Amino acid sequence: MYTLGIDIGSTTSKCVILKDGEYVYAKGLAVGGLGTQGPEIALNTIWNESGLTKSDIARTIVTGYGRNRFEGGDGEVSELTCHALGGRFVFEDLRTVIDIGGQDAKVITLSESGKMSNFVMNDKCAAGTGRFLDVMAGILCVDINDFEKYAEKSKSPASISSTCTVFAESEVISQLANGVEMPDLIAGICDSVATRVASLARRAGVRETVCMSGGVARNGAVRKAMEKELGVRIEFDPLAQYFGAIGAALYAHRQLTR
Ligand code: ADP
Repeated sequence: MYTLGIDIGSTTSKCVILKDGEYVYAKGLAVGGLGTQGPEIALNTIWNESGLTKSDIARTIVTGYGRNRFEGGDGEVSELTCHALGGRFVFEDLRTVIDIGGQDAKVITLSESGKMSNFVMNDKCAAGTGRFLDVMAGILCVDINDFEKYAEKSKSPASISSTCTVFAESEVISQLANGVEMPDLIAGICDSVATRVASLARRAGVRETVCMSGGVARNGAVRKAMEKELGVRIEFDPLAQYFGAIGAALYAHRQLTR
């Protein structure tokens, strides 16, 4: 039995097909979230790659920021539930999920049995989200995927003191003008995101096993900085950006089998 999970975020759309609720059969990701062609492109990718069609899917659940406006699912579920489910699907002892997406950051804690026990969220301020990294990548003309490579070369990460993205942007530009090296600037930018999200995590209460989800999880420099801030190991899986979609597909499977 195939189930489909669609996660329509603020900046990207992700979809996952699970086979028998057991493993990821196909996945697709497209830039563009709510109100764009993103969901359609991600779905086309998944149909092309899997060879399946919509009629092969037993149930579809939609999650994410744009879930209420998407037509074509059989139901919708909050992204908190889906990230917790998706995280636990990959890491069976998971107790804390740190999700950093394009426009928000959430920390979700789980009980020993895997039920969501608490969450803390920042959806008011771009600092501490992927948006902050995207803005900085834009002004530095560096691809976001190269941030980790640059940050690894840093000997003395720059200190970014502004708590507001707009002020931090000016601060980075003036540090660049003052000759601060690119690796140090990028490491400082990653540290800044980690510091903000770590303070959210402390409020939620961090318990191991801890993992990161969302697009920013792909950035090893943010992960390492977060490990240092929180003093815990942070697990990572290449499927991290798909945890919401995996959780939605798993939810669909459970609805049909329980
Ligand atoms: P949403 O679900 O809110 O649309 P995602 O969880 O898909 O967001 O994450 C999107 C964010 O991930 C973007 O803001 C982008 O900057 C960030 N991102 C993607 N790849 C990387 C990377 N390699 N390093 C850092 N950030 C990344």
